[in-house]
Amino acid sequence: MTQTLNIAVFEGDGIGPEIMAPTVAILSQIAAHSNAYAFAFQSLPAGAAHYARTGEALPAASMDAARAADAILLSAMGLPSIRYPDGTEIAPQIDLRKALTLFAGVRPVSIRAGQRTPLNLPEGREVDFVLIRESTEGLFHTQGRGEVTATEARETLLITRDISEKLFRFAFQLAHDRKAQGRGKGHVTCVDKANVFRAFAFFRAIFDEEAARHPDLTADHAYVDATALWMVEKPWEFDVMVTENMFGDILSDLGAGLMGGLGLAPSADIGLDNAVFQPCHGSAPDIAGQGVANPMAMILSAAMMLDWLAIRHDIPVMAKDAHRLRGAVEGVIARGDSLTRDMGGQAGTAAVAEAVRAALRP
Ligand code: NAD
Repeated sequence: MTQTLNIAVFEGDGIGPEIMAPTVAILSQIAAHSNAYAFAFQSLPAGAAHYARTGEALPAASMDAARAADAILLSAMGLPSIRYPDGTEIAPQIDLRKALTLFAGVRPVSIRAGQRTPLNLPEGREVDFVLIRESTEGLFHTQGRGEVTATEARETLLITRDISEKLFRFAFQLAHDRKAQGRGKGHVTCVDKANVFRAFAFFRAIFDEEAARHPDLTADHAYVDATALWMVEKPWEFDVMVTENMFGDILSDLGAGLMGGLGLAPSADIGLDNAVFQPCHGSAPDIAGQGVANPMAMILSAAMMLDWLAIRHDIPVMAKDAHRLRGAVEGVIARGDSLTRDMGGQAGTAAVAEAVRAALRP
C-alpha cells in the first residue's frame, strides 16, 4: 500500500526558490520509483519578500498547514534589505522553531574521500559525525528581551529539565540508529562547560541519567573549548555530540567550515511532532537570480527528511532511498566535473541537480 506524505514547502527568499525547485523534482523522481510511498507537496507563502508585499512574514494559514504536514522542507528566508520597523530581520524559520518546539537542531558533518576540506586529513580518514544543538532555550532564552542600561547588559541562560530530557533521549536514539545503520560506533558526547557554570553541571547530570538507560551505547563529556580544538585535530573520533543552543550555534558553523563551506551543510530542526529540514546557509542575495547557487545542502537536507520520515512512518525503503540520495551527491562531488563555483567548479544550479538526478537513475 502506498503511503502519501504531505510535505509543506517554503521556497523562501533569494536563492531559495532556485534550490528548492530541483530538490522537489529529485524527491518526486525518487518517489516515482517506489510503490511504498508518494509525496504531496504544498507550497506555502512566507518570508521577507512576502512580508514586503503583504505585511505578513508567516501567515497563520501557512503556519497551520506546516503544523499539519508530515514534514516541512524550507530553503532559506530573509533579505538584509527588508526589515521590521524595529530594524530586525524577517526570520520565519526561527518563528517555526519556537512555535513547533523543535528542540533538536541536527547538524551532520561529513567529509568523504576526495571532498575539499581545510583539514589535512590522514590518508584514508573520513569524517562522519552529528552535532545536535538544543534550539529552543539556553543562551537564546532572552533573545530580543535582554536588559540593557547605560552601564550594563544582561541576558539569561535557561536550561530546563523537560527540554534537556527530550534532547538527550533524542541524542541517544540517534546514536542507536546510526550504529544500526553502520554509520557510527554508538557513542554520545555531552559538550558543556560544567567546570565553570552550575547550569552546565545540571545539564550534564541529566545527560548522565539518560546515558545510564543505554548500556548498549557509550557516553562521555567534553568542554566546549576543547571540543572546538578536537573538531579540527581529530574530528573522525566523534559520533553524536549534543550541546546547548549558543555552543551549538558556534560549533555548527565550525562543522560547516570543515566540510568546505555552507553549500554542503544540511540541517534538521526536530521536535516530538514536527520537523523542519533546511540547509544551514541563508538566502545568499549576492548570487540570487544567477542560477549559480549550490543546491547540494538543500538536497542533503531532503535526504535527512527521508531518513526521519522512514523511521516515523516505518517505511524502510525510504531510508534506503535517503542513503542512495546521499551517495548520489557524494558521487557527484568525488567526480568533480559538475560543481558550483563555491566548490571550485563552473557548473550552474541546474547542471549540478541534473548530475545528481543522473546518478540516481538505475
Ligand atoms: P548566506 O548564507 O546567505 O551567505 C553567505 C555567503 O555564502 C554568501 O557569499 C553567499 O553567496 C554564499 N552562499 C550561501 N549559500 C550558498 C549556496 N547554496 N551556494 C553558493 N553560495 C552560497 O548568509 P548571509 O549573507 O549572512 O545572509 C543572507 C540572508 O539570509 C540574510 O537575510 C539572513 O538573515 C538570511 N539567513 C537565513 C537563514 C535561514 O533561512 N535559515 C540562515 C542564515 C541567514
